[in-house]
Parts: sequence; C-alpha cells; structure tokens
Amino acid sequence: MTSPIILDRLVKEYPGGVRAVDGIDLRIEPGEFFALLGPSGCGKTTLLRSIAGLESLSEGTLHIGERDVTALDPGTRDVAMVFQDYALFPHMAVVDNIAYPLRIKKVRREERHQVAQQRAQRLSLAHLLDRRPGQLSGGQQQRVALARAMAARPQVLLLDEPLSNLDARLRLEARTFLKELQSELGVTTVFVTHDQAEALALADRMAIMKDGRIQQVGTPREVFRDPRTSFVAGFIGSQPMALLDGEISDRCIECFGTTIPASGLSLPGGKILERGHPVTVGIRPEYVGFTLEDGATRPSAAPAVVIDSVVVSVENLGASALVTARHGEERLQAVVPDDQAPEPGNLGRFTLPLARVLVFDRASGNRIMGAGA
Ligand code: ATP
Repeated sequence: MTSPIILDRLVKEYPGGVRAVDGIDLRIEPGEFFALLGPSGCGKTTLLRSIAGLESLSEGTLHIGERDVTALDPGTRDVAMVFQDYALFPHMAVVDNIAYPLRIKKVRREERHQVAQQRAQRLSLAHLLDRRPGQLSGGQQQRVALARAMAARPQVLLLDEPLSNLDARLRLEARTFLKELQSELGVTTVFVTHDQAEALALADRMAIMKDGRIQQVGTPREVFRDPRTSFVAGFIGSQPMALLDGEISDRCIECFGTTIPASGLSLPGGKILERGHPVTVGIRPEYVGFTLEDGATRPSAAPAVVIDSVVVSVENLGASALVTARHGEERLQAVVPDDQAPEPGNLGRFTLPLARVLVFDRASGNRIMGAGA
C-alpha cells in the first residue's frame, strides 16, 4: 500500500527561537519520489525528521494516508528512514541487518531471513549476506541500508542524503539504481539533498527550501525553466544562472549596458513598477549564444538582445565550453559547442533570446517577467 503525505502549516521551533521549519503546507502524492532541496541550514533535515516522528512539532498537523500521525511515535507511523551514515549494526551480519525491522515486528526467524534474502537478491547483495558491514564497500553498505529500510514494506520511505558518502562515480550509478528501485516498489519516498543535480535527476517533484520555508514546488523541468524566485533561479542549474542588476526605464529594463524591451510590469499584488525600480535580470548560460565578431553570425529567428563583449576565459565542459566574456566591467557567460569555443581576448557578441530572459523584483525576489510570469 502506498500513501500520500500531507503537511498542514507545520512549524518546528527549537529552544532559543530558531524556526527551522516555518509554516509548511505540502502534499506529497502516493508513490511519488519527492526531494527536499536547499542550502545548508534551510530546515530540510528537520522537516524529514518531523515526518519520521523524530522531532515533535511545535504547530500544524501531519497525515500519512488517512491517519493523523502528528502525535504518534516513530515506530507506529509505518515509515522507514535511511540516514546519511546508514547506521548499520556493526556486530550483525548483513542478513540480520536487513531482517532487523522484521525482528522488531516479532516475525519468525525463518520468515524474516527469507524476506532478507529476497531483498538482498533484488539489490545484488545475495553473495554478501554473511559479511559484517565493516567488510563492505560504501556502495554495498548503502544498498544494505536500503534493503533494511524496505524489509518491512513501509508506507513511506525517508532518505537523508543517502548518496552523500559515495564517491562521484558510485554516486551516479547509485542514482540510477535508486530511481529504478523506487519506481518498482512504488513506495512514497522523500529524500533530502543539498545537491540540485541529484534532485533534478531523481525526483518526480521537489520543494526548494530557504530559511524554513518553501520557495517553490515543481517538477525538475518546472523549477529549471520556470523559477518563481531569483533564489530558485540561482540555486538550480549546474552552471549558475546569471543574475544581473537592472532597473525599470521607459518601456524597457536597463541592464548590462543595454536595454531589454518591457512595459507595464507589476508586482504579484498588482502594483505597477515605476521608472528606476530595481530589478534582477536572469538568464541561463545554456540559453545565451556567443559568436565571434568576425565569424558568420547566424541571424536569430527569435527576438534577442545582442551585446558586444571581449572573451575573458573559456572552460572546457567536455562536449561544450563555458565562455566568460565582459562588456565594460560586467561579465556574462554562455555555453557553446566545444568546436565553436573562442580564445581569451577574442571579440564577439552575446545573443540573449528575449523568451529566455527572466526578470525578478530585486527586493522580494519574486519573478515579474518571463517564463510563465
Ligand atoms: P544541512 O544540509 O546542513 O544538514 P538542513 O537544511 O538539513 O541543513 P537543519 O539541520 O534542518 O537544516 O537545520 C535547520 C536550522 O535549525 C538550522 O539553523 C540549525 O542550526 C537549526 N537546528 C537544527 N537542529 C537544532 C537543534 N537541535 N537545536 C537548535 N537548533 C537546531
């Protein structure tokens, strides 16, 4: 059975007045793979631990399926949690580690070993059942921790940075395997990560958190293409989005020594923005074009702003290159195909497609133009 998780105005205030979770409303759908993403200290671990029942709530209610679990002990919530350090029992063999949740439930020894063997088989651990955790690699320990979490078929699976102890390559493999396993089991899963690439790769949807609050909930595609705040825009993306200071002028925004057509911009409440109002202009380097001054410039089919610039540096990204160039004192970046990479000192021009330009109110960070504004 798989269940939704419903959070209604959750608050967790620690002694001393830190509101680690500051009024969160969220519905996680049955069977969904959901990420809590945000920088260190934003409250994601506290929120996960609150769902597990390891933190008592200061305000609000929490439902798993039909049940109000707000006041229930962790053991009676039917959730399983995998921690960053896996927390395996070092003195127990792998088979007993995996079977442990069933032992707590007083399942007979033969039956729990049978389940442990099945889970181990599925996670390619069958040949390691007699070993102790200390005799396993990091990736194997991670799989044992997952097999243990799944042993009792919980309604909800909670993962706290489950891949953080793995090296870069193992981490990529583990991602694929975790995604497959989750969709096969269909158990509602919430995982915490500070790594936006991991959240984009794994999650069906995610909540991006800052200071105990949710900034945006969406699919990977939505948060990448349609960020609602400058914080989300800056946090998501393997190349950081350029966020440039600008101000409202007559039917345009002045920014980066150029003008971007815009008129009648207003704040979410409806207030029309006056001339001089400070804004932040955002564009992803992946959407910025760069061509050499003397190279053949393909005419852009879509309306775009063109800016002259001098190349400062070029970083190799494999099949593409990250070009940093300056216009006056200001810098901008573009991702170009590797075979079109310029050299430092070259003169060229950036092309900013207007459809990809996002504009945020600088004070509140709310988006006021671009994407689905
Ligand atoms: P990280 O990625 O570094 O683990 P996080 O987003 O998971 O960060 P939390 O661990 O949930 O953040 O912490 C949120 C806030 O609550 C932080 O400001 C933290 O210092 C504070 N905090 C966490 N645990 C306690 C505690 N037991 N007592 C007081 N404050 C706490």
